[in-house]
Amino acid sequence: MDKTFGGCRFIYNKMLEERKKVYQELKDDKDAFYHHKYKTERQYKQDHSFLKEVDSKALQSEWRHLKSAYDNFFRNIKKGIKKRFPKFKSKKNRQSYTTYNVNNNCKIDFENKKLKLPKIKTWIKYRDDRVFSEDIKHITVSKTKSGKYFASILIEIESNIISKQSIEENKIIGFDMSASKFLIAKELKLSSPRFYRTEEPKLKRLHREASRKEKGSSNRNRARINLARLYEKIENRKRDWIHKITHLLSKHFDCVILEDLNIKGMQRFNSGLSKSVSLDFSWNQFVTILKYKMEQKGMHLILVDRYFPSSKLCSECGYKKEDLELSDREWVCPKCQVYHDRDVNASVNLRNEGIRILKEKNIKIINNDETTVGTTVDAFGENVSLLDQEIQERISMNYESTTFM
Ligand SMILES: [Zn+2]
Repeated sequence: MDKTFGGCRFIYNKMLEERKKVYQELKDDKDAFYHHKYKTERQYKQDHSFLKEVDSKALQSEWRHLKSAYDNFFRNIKKGIKKRFPKFKSKKNRQSYTTYNVNNNCKIDFENKKLKLPKIKTWIKYRDDRVFSEDIKHITVSKTKSGKYFASILIEIESNIISKQSIEENKIIGFDMSASKFLIAKELKLSSPRFYRTEEPKLKRLHREASRKEKGSSNRNRARINLARLYEKIENRKRDWIHKITHLLSKHFDCVILEDLNIKGMQRFNSGLSKSVSLDFSWNQFVTILKYKMEQKGMHLILVDRYFPSSKLCSECGYKKEDLELSDREWVCPKCQVYHDRDVNASVNLRNEGIRILKEKNIKIINNDETTVGTTVDAFGENVSLLDQEIQERISMNYESTTFM
């Protein structure tokens, strides 16, 4: 596997080097860049014979990875986003390769928990309990910085999920999002555990230890692995938490409404926050996972345009307070005199806008007894033991306040 990582990185960097040169000569002439005659995989193999020992499907997929990287680069230029040309792959980063299942050269023995990969003679033992009967499409093998190996297996499952065409109003929830508080709705507040912040002292200590060791020494290598292990642990915890929270949301709500934040918006949003605060929080990962979990159940995720003035509108009368500052955490509407908590008000506005979008899509909204919103939140509360203590308290606190309202 290590040999294949190396071969893939080598051919990727060689192909990139060639294209980089051509791009510098041609500048933005995209057609000429695409029509240039580049070296083929076969020529590379002739020049560097060690590539012949490596899984050829994996080498081929490097070309696809590279192509999608520069396709993306040119697409961004067209959109007016200036990005750098694809970067070289480094030995220091996470290593990976993708291989395709052709003529059954990828196999899994579920009973003995063994995996067979092309070009590798022995079967590889693995730890996992999942079983499937579909054909393998491709496998991505990766190695983390701390030295663990993973195989991601892609299979194709036929499904006939029909998205729900009528939704009960009390199963619709809208959230406002902030880095410090995570998700806020009128009925439910979910805060994100401080994954990085709690481990920050330890991270700092391990960083210091690694930098004190002599470069290239085995002590330094060991310190580097310890550090990578802690980073991976934090990432795993974060991902695990996102899976739990998105599972609960997709289980209890038919429609979740959020603000559509792009990366630029996130940068503006993260500026001023310390790095550990922004690391605690992966908006894109959260939205991606929530989206597929909702869709798998035929439910909806609505992303409201980020230009929608969710904070400035009064959710009671619709008045727009143009001079609302980012620091105004609460305000009173000058027109109808209603008191607003900034985040709760924004979440109500997002919810209303989301409902408007649902109706635009011809989805029927069934009005039912509003009090059942409490039941939904309550059901959420039963599962809350899966979550962080802090969230548990917030949920129960907020549930009490909504039932009395
Ligand atoms: Zn008002």
